[in-house]
Amino acid sequence: VRSALITDDVVAQLYGQQFCKELKSELFSFPSGETSKTRETKQRLENELLEKGFSRDTTIVALGGGVVLDLAGFLAATFCRGVDLVLIPTTLLAMVDAAIGGKTGVNTPQGKNLIGAFYFPKQIVIDLRFLTTLPQPEIWNGTVEILKAGLIGDQELFVNFSDLSWKERIQRAIEVKRRIVAQDLEERGVRRVLNVGHTVGHALETVSNYQLSHGQAVAMGIALEARISHAMGFLSCKDLAEIEKRFPPLAFDYDLDTVVQVMKLDKKIKDGTLYFALLKEIGSVALVGVPLEEVACAMRTC
Ligand code: ADP
Ligand code: ZN
Repeated sequence: VRSALITDDVVAQLYGQQFCKELKSELFSFPSGETSKTRETKQRLENELLEKGFSRDTTIVALGGGVVLDLAGFLAATFCRGVDLVLIPTTLLAMVDAAIGGKTGVNTPQGKNLIGAFYFPKQIVIDLRFLTTLPQPEIWNGTVEILKAGLIGDQELFVNFSDLSWKERIQRAIEVKRRIVAQDLEERGVRRVLNVGHTVGHALETVSNYQLSHGQAVAMGIALEARISHAMGFLSCKDLAEIEKRFPPLAFDYDLDTVVQVMKLDKKIKDGTLYFALLKEIGSVALVGVPLEEVACAMRTC
């Protein structure tokens, strides 16, 4: 069995040699960043693999953040109609998010992740040592997603976050995501609860022209969606206060009417109603429709 290690140039620089030696793999890399996550990059890597004689018995090892995992995973899904895949996430976010759930894919000019496949790895390797080289904003991106997992399905993970070790935080966040994915392998419904904070969060990313990181946007998204939930009569004052303590929505000066306009275009709307995964309490979620004209107001109040 030959293995091909796919990574980006930043991770290659830090960990490429070491892992190629350990795994007796050949290294294939591409420029880091979301803009590399394209069909063109995939095609270029596929040609390189074929030229080097890789075929059906290949194992693809994806070493990197979400970008690498999504792209290399999709490549593994189609290479010779599917070859073995091993995921080694190197960002905190990828450990708890991209590596779990079997979603792979690439971006197109029309939007993110529009071309891809569900494809599950044979193995996932989580190694905390990668976190030592991860820049602080990347740690925050992952932290927000871990706290989100707590809000969705593990109250203790959210409330006692500060007292837990990284190992426990990661394990528990993975456990929440696994539990949800298992109920909905192909994203027909239940998996939408994972979108907590992301309906508003994605709109904020757009409105800020991607000046906000995913983590910053989702953190504000969680706080603002918590207000909506409170206004709709779900989330208690106590839980809302708990959430705003972690994610202060104050750091926020975007026009909320514009944010609503963006969500409206984001096709989560049906008959004048926007659909959200809203927290009922810390640790549980419901899918709720909110009349469009009430959304901005609900985000403002409190
Ligand atoms: P994600 O945050 O979705 O996992 P990326 O795959 O784009 O996103 O990774 C974010 C950035 O961090 C990229 O520039 C990547 O090269 C870099 N990176 C990934 N893992 C590490 C690491 N362990 N140490 C330092 N930088 C890393
Ligand atoms: Zn996210």
